Amino acid sequence: MTHENLAAAIGNTPLIRLNQVSDATGCEILGKAEFLNPGQSVKDRAALYIIRAAIASGELKPGGTIVEGTAGNTGIGLSLVGASMGFKSVIVIPDSQSQEKKDMLRLAGATLVEVPPKPYRDDNNYIKYAARLATELTKTEPNGAIFANQFDNTANRQAHVETTGPELWAQTDGKIDGFICAAGSGGTVAGVAQVLQPKGVKVGLADPMGAALYNFYEHGELKSEGSSISEGIGQGRITANLDGFKPDFVCQVTDEEALPIVFDLLEHEGLCMGGSTGVNIGGAVKMAKHMGPGHTIVTILCDYGSRYQSKLWNPDFLRGKDLPVPHWLDGPGREVP
Ligand code: PMP
Repeated sequence: MTHENLAAAIGNTPLIRLNQVSDATGCEILGKAEFLNPGQSVKDRAALYIIRAAIASGELKPGGTIVEGTAGNTGIGLSLVGASMGFKSVIVIPDSQSQEKKDMLRLAGATLVEVPPKPYRDDNNYIKYAARLATELTKTEPNGAIFANQFDNTANRQAHVETTGPELWAQTDGKIDGFICAAGSGGTVAGVAQVLQPKGVKVGLADPMGAALYNFYEHGELKSEGSSISEGIGQGRITANLDGFKPDFVCQVTDEEALPIVFDLLEHEGLCMGGSTGVNIGGAVKMAKHMGPGHTIVTILCDYGSRYQSKLWNPDFLRGKDLPVPHWLDGPGREVP
């Protein structure tokens, strides 16, 4: 098969059976391999739909500039899709995000603006910073600029309504009982829910520590406790993409639960993933236990692990956070004999 351009190569990712967690729970737990997208993450889908919607509305003009605030993956998607269509990109990123994602953004041609991490209520939060920068660039860029606004632009959710949701239904021949993943913008979980819940599929939300959605859906209060090393997930507010979403199941997944899953996945199944994938699979295990054996539950394998070589896959980083270090990642036995 020949794709006529990069955009056409986004999506239609395979499902991979996650053998260890499936065998342990008696459910079929399947991962949608979103790391196989050209930008190596699930966010390529949202990036493409945001760009297409902005072109269709006339806001994004030929040679225009795309501005976004992002933990990295949406920016990588926007920069790569943007490059393939002749747009420039300016990406605002909290400087706490992994060096690998920043390097990839520069490689993808983005102008990178690193800002100190601030809560959403702060005027200098990366999203608000990006929105202001977009307004300024609209006046100075010769071909204009847009704010991609992944959190509150529902073209993001629409990508999953039109692609991820239908793909999951078709790939499982409708034999899917549950779907669960964590939320960053919420586009993935809410978009898939829009397609699968009306077909009787239960949709769950897995929340990392430090996010406020678990308490919101369970107790009606946006409240968070703790923290997580996972990147790209952990929302503190109801974004426009989450508006109207009603999960059938919610759970919290700690780093102590998520990390051993990610480490086992590489050691035993050859899948090298990022931290949010561990939260997703941890959530799938909890949902499997809640639903009981014999069910098929799908989750998202969000992005490729090489993006976190200096963090999640670095024993010194893990030790510094008092997190478990897999024996094979560290110490004796690692050297070539
Ligand atoms: N995992 C990773 C690594 C991400 O970058 C993101 C998006 N920021 C997500 C999960 C969550 O996806 P969504 O924005 O669709 O909720």
